[in-house]
Amino acid sequence: MYRSKRKKNQFYRPFHLFSNLCIPILLSCQPLRDMLYSYRNKKVEMRRKPSLQKGSDPVARRRRYKVKNIVILILVLLIAIGGITTGIWAISNKGSEEPASTSSTQPESTDSSADASSSDVSDSSDSQSRISEPDDDWQLVLANLSHPLPEDFSVDLTTITGNYADIPALDNMKVDSRIVEPLLKMFQDAKQDGQNLFLRASHRTIALQQTYYDWHINHYKEQGYSDEKAKALTLEYIAYPGCSEHHTGLAVDIISVEWQNSGKEIIDTFEETSEAKWLAKNAHKYGFIMRYPKDKEDITKIGYEPWHFRYVGVAHATAIYNAGQCLEEYLGVLD
Ligand SMILES: [Zn+2]
Repeated sequence: MYRSKRKKNQFYRPFHLFSNLCIPILLSCQPLRDMLYSYRNKKVEMRRKPSLQKGSDPVARRRRYKVKNIVILILVLLIAIGGITTGIWAISNKGSEEPASTSSTQPESTDSSADASSSDVSDSSDSQSRISEPDDDWQLVLANLSHPLPEDFSVDLTTITGNYADIPALDNMKVDSRIVEPLLKMFQDAKQDGQNLFLRASHRTIALQQTYYDWHINHYKEQGYSDEKAKALTLEYIAYPGCSEHHTGLAVDIISVEWQNSGKEIIDTFEETSEAKWLAKNAHKYGFIMRYPKDKEDITKIGYEPWHFRYVGVAHATAIYNAGQCLEEYLGVLD
């Protein structure tokens, strides 16, 4: 509705401007008025005196041509001024009116959201969105199935459990010391917004990852799956030892205190909790990204995990969040 109204205005406004402003200005110009009056008087005279009509007198004919030329000139001028007015109006309104009109269509339109998603698609293929930061060597470290961490990878860890009252956590939770501050701030701000976050997983050694991995393989085999199928099912959610982000100390699994107390398994319906929604919307402000989004499973090769967050720094997290990318896309590593 708003859109059609806008189109109508776009057409009529310059026309009104032209007819209401330019024509009166031109008519108020004395020489032009004189010219029009003299032309009209001559026509009246010609009607009265047939001898003055077309072809009868060469002098009168020249005058008629002259008057005709002046009238044509005036018409051309009017059209030109109208065109210029329309052009100026269009240019001056392009910048100021367009955003307001677009926002006025938002409440009822589906096409404006389609515009937004299509721009997201083009953004996500745009590797130019990557920013350079002094801490890139550790903030952007990539750990996935095709990029295992180097064997000598080491990290300075800080124990969270028992040391930070504002971060309710499972036993023995440790993270890279450099992310303690943003993690703490995120938990505190969430609490202020009424969201009770719980730190369920953090740094994992390769040995511990191996234990998880083996447990899952056996779990699927016991259900009758072949070795190959058991491995495929395990790798959907459990990274291969050495390829887990949890080895970096930059990845955390965060659920809600309520979910933790319920004893429920962590599954993707966690996304429906207010804590998950808060994290999805705000984590980037503290430098964390949802590392395995729902629509990026083909790229990350990991199932959707609305609880797994990875620290990359505020600048990168914000760029990734705004572009709707996953880390592999952002880094341009899509193998
Ligand atoms: Zn995780």
